[in-house]
Amino acid sequence: MTTDRKEKASLLLIYTGGTIGMKQDPVTQTLRPFDFSQILAEVPELSKFAYRIDSVSFDPIIDSSDIDPEAWKQLVSHIEARYDDYDGFVILHGTDTMAYSASALSFMIEGLTKPVVFTGSQLPIGMPRTDGKENLISAVEIAADKDGCGHARVPEVCICFDNHLYRGNRTNKMSAEEFKAFRSPNLPPLAEAGISIRYNDALIIKPSDWNVKPKFHKDLDTRVSILKIHPGITRQVVRNILCGEETRAVIIETYGSGNAPSAGWFLEIVREAASMGKILLNVTQCLSGAVDMGIYANGKALMDCGVTGGSDITTEAALGKLFYLLGKTAENDKVMSEIIKNLRGEISI
Ligand code: ASP
Repeated sequence: MTTDRKEKASLLLIYTGGTIGMKQDPVTQTLRPFDFSQILAEVPELSKFAYRIDSVSFDPIIDSSDIDPEAWKQLVSHIEARYDDYDGFVILHGTDTMAYSASALSFMIEGLTKPVVFTGSQLPIGMPRTDGKENLISAVEIAADKDGCGHARVPEVCICFDNHLYRGNRTNKMSAEEFKAFRSPNLPPLAEAGISIRYNDALIIKPSDWNVKPKFHKDLDTRVSILKIHPGITRQVVRNILCGEETRAVIIETYGSGNAPSAGWFLEIVREAASMGKILLNVTQCLSGAVDMGIYANGKALMDCGVTGGSDITTEAALGKLFYLLGKTAENDKVMSEIIKNLRGEISI
């Protein structure tokens, strides 16, 4: 669908599904996706912007719990194919896995010069108290915004939700109920929408050359597991996850600043996994803060076994980063040297 107006900026809206475009099934009472053309009809405010807004829709549209790396490749392909035709991209996506998708896309597109803004809602757009309209309108405005030189204000993969714009790979979903569904615990918002949109320019990453087209990476290697440490975790579970034949990397979600049990059997399995060449990345279970394995003996023991510290990276970003890095090379040593680098603003180092 195309809205023809005096041309100021042009945007591509990519609709994947999610609550924003759902409707209650009168029989089962469950929320089901409905046709995208109805979404724009629900937001006539969009026509007040003098933007050209085109849209494409996933077929079928999905609940974001069904998002997978194939869907990420599809999103990247849409952006790659139309990169020169638009000033920005808005992705309508369910909230459940939005932080994973925004993280993955931030790695899959290298050298962005245009905004890629994810948004969605907690209440369907057709409901009277929906947050979907406001989220969509803010996302559209931000995706179209330019600075005095005609460059995109935010050439990053972001999430726009509840009047805040976050760097996508710094977010996680924090509420299944509140309109403030996302947070970015270790990085302030890139922008806040009040009467006007206030950008935090010092934080926004700009390309080194605005004229160079991004690189689009679609080779992902998903042989990554996540081990969440908890009291009472068994040897069998630890061994199955850390030493699994199919696994190239494991994100170990540890306590506090990167601590885990110091039991001999536990450290022995970690050492064994490291000697098998597995990439072991330490990410904290805490809501904010960073891994520093030098603080406690329990953390230091992990480090000595060959575990790499993930600083303040989120699990969502760590997963996308590993899929991307493993997809680039079969050599785990190379991945290990890249995983600790700040590639897309995902980590404070
Ligand atoms: N289950 C929905 C989804 O992620 C939830 C939402 O959109 O808020 O697709």
